Amino acid sequence: AVALDGLCKSYDGRRVLDGLSLSVRRGEFLALLGPSGSGKTTAMRLIGGFEAPDAGRVHIAGRDVTDLPPEARPVNTVFQSYALFPHMTVLENVAFGPRMQGLSRAARRARAGEMLELVHLSAAADQPPAELSGGMQQRVALARALANRPEVLLLDEPLAALDRGLRDEMQRELRRIQREIGATFLYVTHDQDEAFGMADRMAVMRAGRFEQVDTPGAIYDRPASGWVAHFVGTAT
Ligand code: ATP
Repeated sequence: AVALDGLCKSYDGRRVLDGLSLSVRRGEFLALLGPSGSGKTTAMRLIGGFEAPDAGRVHIAGRDVTDLPPEARPVNTVFQSYALFPHMTVLENVAFGPRMQGLSRAARRARAGEMLELVHLSAAADQPPAELSGGMQQRVALARALANRPEVLLLDEPLAALDRGLRDEMQRELRRIQREIGATFLYVTHDQDEAFGMADRMAVMRAGRFEQVDTPGAIYDRPASGWVAHFVGTAT
């Protein structure tokens, strides 16, 4: 579903992505992890189309999207800070997706309703988001992203702001939803347990490159280097 081919990106002459290549299967849940500053968020921004690479190509769903703007890519992003519109109801928030503007109001609301069902929030449809807990608001943000029916969903630390209990619950929910809709998830996290528990494969980043891309079991049993063993064994 996603193919990165030699992505390079520098800021102020400093190389942040150094020839990043990766192939992600359709429906796969891939966790991206690595130390702070290793380039995880930059990689996501390039896949989402928010920035252009200096070199390399991005393919999504078999198409070269490198030169397309974000709204023309079959991708949606859920960030840690999921700004919802406070003056709209939960349903209106979900129905507001930029790619839903071509649909009739009734069709938008119907799709938003389906998405709220998926995240188990139908009962909150008419409430303002401020009345919901953090975990529920995060689910609204997820429903809003999913309402655009993206081929690929980019999630950048989507649960980092939640407390432990909510995070555990949302991890299960995210996995369930991902299986249910069959979308491809690229998931940046600092939380090793989260990555090991949720991912089909993990991509471990170090200084703008992938040091190892493999199943959680293989990374645990056969780390590709002492560095990976150390990172996976000690980082939290
Ligand atoms: P973290 O885990 O802390 O979020 P990360 O792995 O996501 O880190 P990036 O956010 O991709 O890392 O940043 C990689 C490097 O690129 C960092 O050193 C960062 O300071 C730098 N960087 C990112 N964006 C810019 C920018 N717009 N201008 C200049 N430097 C940038």
